[in-house]
Amino acid sequence: MVRRRKTNVAASRGTDRQDRLRSAVAGLRGAVRFNAPLKEYTSFHIGGPADVLVEPADTEDIIQLVRQAHAQKLPIFALGGTNLLVRDKGIRGVVVSLAKLRAIKEEAGSVLYAEGGVGMPTLIGYAIRRSLAGLEWAAGIPGTVAGCVVMNAGTRLGEMKDAVKAVRIVTPTGAVVDCAAHDIVFSYRRAQLPEGIVAGAWLQLKPGVRSDIEKVVKDYLRYRRDTQPLALPSAGCVFKNPPNDSAGRVVEAAGLKGAHVGDAEVSDKHANFIVNQGHASAKDVLALIKKVRAQVARKTGIKLELELKLVGQA
Ligand SMILES: Cc1cc2nc3c(=O)[nH]c(=O)nc-3n(C[C@H](O)[C@H](O)[C@H](O)COP(=O)(O)OP(=O)(O)OC[C@H]3O[C@@H](n4cnc5c(N)ncnc54)[C@H](O)[C@@H]3O)c2cc1C
Repeated sequence: MVRRRKTNVAASRGTDRQDRLRSAVAGLRGAVRFNAPLKEYTSFHIGGPADVLVEPADTEDIIQLVRQAHAQKLPIFALGGTNLLVRDKGIRGVVVSLAKLRAIKEEAGSVLYAEGGVGMPTLIGYAIRRSLAGLEWAAGIPGTVAGCVVMNAGTRLGEMKDAVKAVRIVTPTGAVVDCAAHDIVFSYRRAQLPEGIVAGAWLQLKPGVRSDIEKVVKDYLRYRRDTQPLALPSAGCVFKNPPNDSAGRVVEAAGLKGAHVGDAEVSDKHANFIVNQGHASAKDVLALIKKVRAQVARKTGIKLELELKLVGQA
């Protein structure tokens, strides 16, 4: 009797949750997918399901979604998918991909407004065609403009904060706020922004010579192809560089190239990449990260910090 009552309570909670999820996405014009396998949305090809994944049609659709999710008290997580390790049980609530927000507009004074879902490679291609310099440092970063702002993505040639002029954010209550770069605190792989979904960003570039810009980009892409395991799924660099050192060098020096747990492997091309050799789970990657951190700490005393973002439920 007691057991039956418990089962009924659990079932009605589940139905209630489904109703709230449905209400959160009701009437949107973009794509909606329930129980969406996030391994299809991450560069690592790893991750359990999102309760619901939404690709809003435009900024108005984002506003409607955040208002409805807020009213249903459901969490929202936005992704591009290239710096994430999504745990095996996935993400509860609403996951948003800006895959449909891909417009780029050129404004006066060599400024580009890029919607949040524009891929960095696409934006660099656009800048090259318009002979605009200032994004060459980002050649080969696969993330979206929104993800690159949030992460203050960067390379040894530069970082996002060098180009950002302002950021458009949709707050959890559905307000649209344009935040000037001087009001944002950028640090190593981090930008302190108001809470919300980054819908787009203005980038301040400068007139340049097309062939010069193209050459820097091509050279950097070649360098990446030569030094990084780009043919295999990964989330880019796993660890932040320790002060005045490189995480790749430290992991390699600890003898960890090729170390693996299941199909998760420390790349033998670049030791700060963990690659998915086929069917790695988040559990495998986390076990490997633990092993790497422990061995590096034991051999060098350095405590490596994660650069990739760990999200979702185990
Ligand atoms: C092969 C490879 C090479 C890489 N090389 C580099 C490199 O050289 N330098 C570098 O910095 N990174 C690199 N990365 C990592 C990654 O591309 C960057 O961190 C990028 O900034 C992540 O963008 P994303 O859109 O994929 O965001 P995600 O990885 O999905 O998310 C990163 C963070 O941003 C948040 N976010 C994403 N979109 C939004 C949004 N619309 N609104 C609010 N929050 C949002 C997420 O919630 C999360 O907290 C590499 C990755 C790969 C796979």
